[in-house]
Amino acid sequence: MKRKRVVVLGATGSIGDSTLKVAHDIPERMEIVGLAANSNAEKLAAAANITRPKAICLVDERKIDLLRTRLKYEPKIFAGQNGLREIARLEDVDMVLIAIVGTAGLHPALDAIESGKDLAVASKEILVMAGEVVTAAARKRGVKILPVDSEHNAIFQCLDGRASEVRRIILTASGGPFRETPANRLGDVTVEEALKHPTWNMGPKITIDSATLFNKGLEMIEAHWLFGVEMKRVEVVIHPQSIVHSMVEFADGSMLAQMSYSNMCFPIQYAVTWPDRVPNTLPPLDFSTLSKLEFFPPRYEDFPALNLARRAGETGGTLPAVMNAANEVAVAAFLNGRLRFPQIWLTVAQVMDRHRTVAHPDLDAILAADQWARAEATAAIGKK
Ligand code: NAD
Ligand code: MG
Repeated sequence: MKRKRVVVLGATGSIGDSTLKVAHDIPERMEIVGLAANSNAEKLAAAANITRPKAICLVDERKIDLLRTRLKYEPKIFAGQNGLREIARLEDVDMVLIAIVGTAGLHPALDAIESGKDLAVASKEILVMAGEVVTAAARKRGVKILPVDSEHNAIFQCLDGRASEVRRIILTASGGPFRETPANRLGDVTVEEALKHPTWNMGPKITIDSATLFNKGLEMIEAHWLFGVEMKRVEVVIHPQSIVHSMVEFADGSMLAQMSYSNMCFPIQYAVTWPDRVPNTLPPLDFSTLSKLEFFPPRYEDFPALNLARRAGETGGTLPAVMNAANEVAVAAFLNGRLRFPQIWLTVAQVMDRHRTVAHPDLDAILAADQWARAEATAAIGKK
C-alpha cells in the first residue's frame, strides 16, 4: 500500500481543515508534502508546524515575513500567484488537492495535471468553468481527477467505473436554510439566516450557494464533466438529512446510493485512498438515532438557480463560466448587504442573458468570459 504524497491548495479553509484531519487519521496512507493558502499566515504556519510539509505557499506576499516568524522549521517557501503555480508542480508529489474558493485554483489545477499529478478536486469552479479543457488535459497526460465534493464522491463510489451503463445521476441537496421558506419571504431573509446551513459547516461562499441552490446547479455541471454524463441525465432531489450523498440509477433500473454522516473527511479520505478503503476514526451511521430519510422534488419556480445552471450546462461553452462569475460577484454583494437574496439569481440571469456564448473555448476565452461577467454583474449591481 502506497503512502500518498499530497499538496493541499486552500489549506486554511473548511476543506483544508478536514484534509489535515484525514492526514492525521490515516498517516500510513497519506503524507502532506505541501500546503498553500491565500493570506492567513498564522493559520498556515500553525498547520505547517504540525504536519511539517517540505514546501508551503502564501499568495499574499505582504504576509511572508509574518509567516517566517511563526514557522518552527525551514520549509521551502513560495509566494504570490506564481508561487501557487510552482507548488502545484512540486516534485515527488502524487496528488494535488484543490480546495481554493473561487477561480484562483484553475491555473494551478492545470499545472498539477501537466506535471503528471493526480488531481483531487473540491473547488467545483474548476470543472464548471473549464470542464472540457481540464478533463482533456487530464486524459492527455494520463492523470486521474478524483472528486472531493461529497455528491460527486458519492457518485464516483456508486459508479465504480461503469459510467456507460448510467440512466440517471441523482444529486441530493439539503435544500439549505430556506427549504421551507415561502417565496414571498425570500426577499427579506438576512445574511445571518442565509449563513446558517442546516447540515454542513462550510466556508461562506458555498454556504450562500447552498441557500440559493446555485451550489447544486454548479454541481450538476461538475457531474456532467466528471462522469461524461449528459446534462439531461443529471437530476436533483431535496434530501434534508444529508445522509444519502447522491445516487446513480443504472440501465437495469437498479439504484445505488452512498451514505454517511455529513462530514467532508469521508469523501476526502476516499479520494486519497481510492481504490482502497482503509479504517479510520470517523463515526459510522447509527440507525438507532437516524429518525428518517426524506426526499422531495426541488422548488424550481422559487429557486431559479437550478434551471439557470441546467441552461448553462446544456449550452456549454463559456456560459457556465459566466454563470459562475456573475454568481460570485452577486454573492459577495449579498454578503456586503448590497443585494437582497433573490437579486443574486436575478443578477446572474441578467448577465447570462447578455452573454454571447463561445463554443469550445480555450483557457483564454474562458478567462475573458469570466472577466466580462464580473464587470457586467458589478455594473448591474451598481444600478440597483
Ligand atoms: P473556505 O472559504 O473555507 O476556504 C477557502 C480557502 O481558499 C482558504 O484556504 C483560502 O486561503 C484559499 N484561497 C482563497 N482565495 C485564494 C486565492 N486567490 N489564492 C489561493 N488561495 C485562496 O472555503 P471552503 O468551504 O473550504 O471551500 C473551498 C472549495 O471547496 C470551494 O470551491 C467550495 O465550493 C468547495 N467545497 C467545499 C465544501 C465544504 O464542505 N466546505 C464541500 C464541497 C466543495
Ligand atoms: Mg457538494
